[in-house]
This record gives sequence, C-alpha cells and structure tokens, in this order.
Amino acid sequence: MSEFVDVVPPDQAWSVWWAQVTRRAGGELIRTADALGRVTARPISSPEALPAFRRSTVDGYAVRAADTFGASDSLPAYLRVAGEVVMGQAAAVDIRKGEALLIHTGGMVPDHADAVVMVEHTQNFVEGEIEVRRPVAPGENVLQIGEDVLPGSEILPAGHRIEPQDIGALLALGVTDGIPVVRKPLVSLFSTGDELVQPGTPTLGPGQIRDINSGTIRALCLRAGAETRSHDIVPDDPEMLYVALLEALPQADMLVVTAGSSVSVRDMTAVTINRLGTPGVLVHGVAARPGKPTILAVVDGKPVIGLPGNPVSALVMFTLFGVPAIAYLLGAEVPRQAQTQARVSGNVPSAAGREDYVPVRLVDRDGEQWAEPVFGKSNLIFTLVGADGLLKIPLNITGLREGAWGEVLLF
Ligand code: AMP
Ligand code: MG
Repeated sequence: MSEFVDVVPPDQAWSVWWAQVTRRAGGELIRTADALGRVTARPISSPEALPAFRRSTVDGYAVRAADTFGASDSLPAYLRVAGEVVMGQAAAVDIRKGEALLIHTGGMVPDHADAVVMVEHTQNFVEGEIEVRRPVAPGENVLQIGEDVLPGSEILPAGHRIEPQDIGALLALGVTDGIPVVRKPLVSLFSTGDELVQPGTPTLGPGQIRDINSGTIRALCLRAGAETRSHDIVPDDPEMLYVALLEALPQADMLVVTAGSSVSVRDMTAVTINRLGTPGVLVHGVAARPGKPTILAVVDGKPVIGLPGNPVSALVMFTLFGVPAIAYLLGAEVPRQAQTQARVSGNVPSAAGREDYVPVRLVDRDGEQWAEPVFGKSNLIFTLVGADGLLKIPLNITGLREGAWGEVLLF
C-alpha cells in the first residue's frame, strides 16, 4: 500500500469538507407524541398563558396577605374559614376581610385572596377558625397567570432536540400536533467487497465474510437521528459502484461507502465518487488511527463519506465525521459525546501529528478510574464489544505513559 500524501488532521479535514456542504434536510409537521429526539425546524411559541389561572403552590389557606401582617407564634392572626377550594374548580365563595379558604397545591386562588399561608404555619383549634402564626407577603405561594409561559413567548428554539420534558410542556399548552421538525436525513449505505455476503447467509463459502459495516453504521445513523437505506452489497467493480451511487444520490441526504478506500489497485471509491459530480473528493486520508484511508467528499452539495472497510476503523471514523454530519444536516447542536477521564494502565505509544483512538475497558482501582487498552488486531469487531470507549491520544503528543490521565470517549 502506498502512502497517503495529503493526510490531514481530523479537525482540518472536517472544516475542508463541511465548508462545501450546502444541502440541509427539509421540514415536516408531526404529532407531539411522536416528537421525541426530533429537531425543531423553527422556534415554537406558546399559544396561551401557563398557568391559565392563579394557582396555589402549597397546601394551606388562601388569604388576604394584609390580614396576616404581624402574625407570630405569640400573637397569631385569627381568620374565619369560609370554605374549601375544590381541585379543578373555581372557588365557590370568594373571601372577605378576616377570612381564609382551605386550598390544595394547584388549586385556583379566589379573586380576593392574594397569598396562601402554608398549612404548617397555621393551627386549627376551633372548628371554622384558624390561627396564622407567620405573616405572608402579597403573592406568596401563588403562581401568577403566565408566570411559567406568556402567550406568544418562545418555548423551544430552532435546532433543539426534543426531550421528554419538552413534550410535557407542549401538551400542557394543548399543543398535540403540528410540531415543525427537520425531516430525518436519509443516509444511503453501501458495503463494497467481493468477499462480503449478507449477514443472513448461514454457511460461508471459502474466503467469504459477513457484512458488518452496514449494520454498525446504520445503528450509529439511527442513534444520531437519521433514517437509512441499506443497499445491496457492491462487488469490487467500479462501474457497478458508480451505477449504485448515481441511482441513490437524488433521494439521499448523505452517501456512505465502506471499504475500497485504501490506495491499492482495486481501490476505486475515490475515483468513482469523483465521477458522480463536483467538487468530489476533498479529503483522502485523515491523520488518525484507526481510519487513515478515510474519504470525505461532496457531490451536489451533499456529504459523501468513504470509510475504511475494517469494521473498527469504519466505526471510529463514522463516529468522528458521520455522527456530527447528521447533527449538522438536522440543524441541531452536535451532541456532545459522553466522555470521561481515566489513567492509562500501560504505555500507549502514538506518533506526533496523528490522533489515535484506542479501545479501552474502564476499571476502578482504589476509587480511581483506569483505562485498560483492549488489545486485538484492529479488524476484530470484538475488541470494541469488549471495550467501554475509546482513549483519545491527541494529535501532537507521542503517546501516553502508564499512569497518565487521558480522555475516553464513551460508547
Ligand atoms: P478494504 O478497505 O476493502 O481494504 O477492506 C479492509 C478489510 O476490512 C478487509 O479485511 C475487508 O475484508 C474488511 N471489510 C471490508 N468491508 C467490510 C464489511 N462491510 N464488513 C466486515 N468487514 C469488512
Ligand atoms: Mg475491499
């Protein structure tokens, strides 16, 4: 295999690539109940005030605050209990000077009450009368109309990934439908190689292997909020790959080809991508291990990725480039990958000018987190299965010594 001449660091590769991507997924309207994980296409405003009526925030008595001023344990204020506010209804009676109404958390505060005394600050020795032992200020323990949300105010910004609590907020406002979200980008997946067969193949012929990458990359896409189309396995035939990619391009928002990215006689992905249109291949070779022979291209304003065939390299490189690409196509903030700090359990060498990602298992030793490299030939998917994450060795250092702290990206 000849050397890549124009290998670039991952950050630079991203910038060069993404600067040329002009397409974004369009929008659609969906039901609130279906909106989990989707990304808002524009800001959503509230159609009404929340709460819609003045609500008590405690169990206690609705009062006129002035009637409690100066109240204390030694000199309580005595108020007549005029009744109870029933949940889900307006108070049947209003209060007058010197009166209180029993009220529960979330109950509707009557018109002439302006505060609620917590039940803990009252005594009820005589039927129909309470002693108030603390004063309340006007507005105390009362949620005012619109205090949570005012009509017309923005409740969710554009580009926001909808979470369970957002669904609750929309439902509280009666918004059950018509949520403007970005359409899920469609990622077309192609595995290439004469040796590959469908995973459902029960008995392998000599030299054959089951296709892993379509499955792992598809899973990463789904988790990132995209839809996928898994195409038939493409043999090592440039013309067949060209036809398959050309056919998929109009509907797809992103194309992903795995394998055929090394510089060797049969490797034709880069040449084929360039035949599809301009600007074509922008990066061929990333200063990272595993995953150096990665291709980043743009055709028709759409991102195209060529991943190394090696399943570990493919997964690491798609995490680095494909997952954020989906987030950008969605117009969402890039989900920060969960990461943690750990001490390395052995010397891990690296070359300056290259980012390394080493599969590690996390273990606890005397209350400290350590990262143990999971060794294995890099094409063994089981090195990843046995790992908790990837230890990142930054670009400009020559490795981490045993005991040094490093950053681990969690799966
Ligand atoms: P290549 O990038 O074509 O040189 O492939 C590198 C290695 O990854 C070879 O051992 C391939 O057999 C293997 N490989 C390529 N594609 C896949 C795939 N989809 N699933 C599993 N292994 C693959
Ligand atoms: Mg191959």
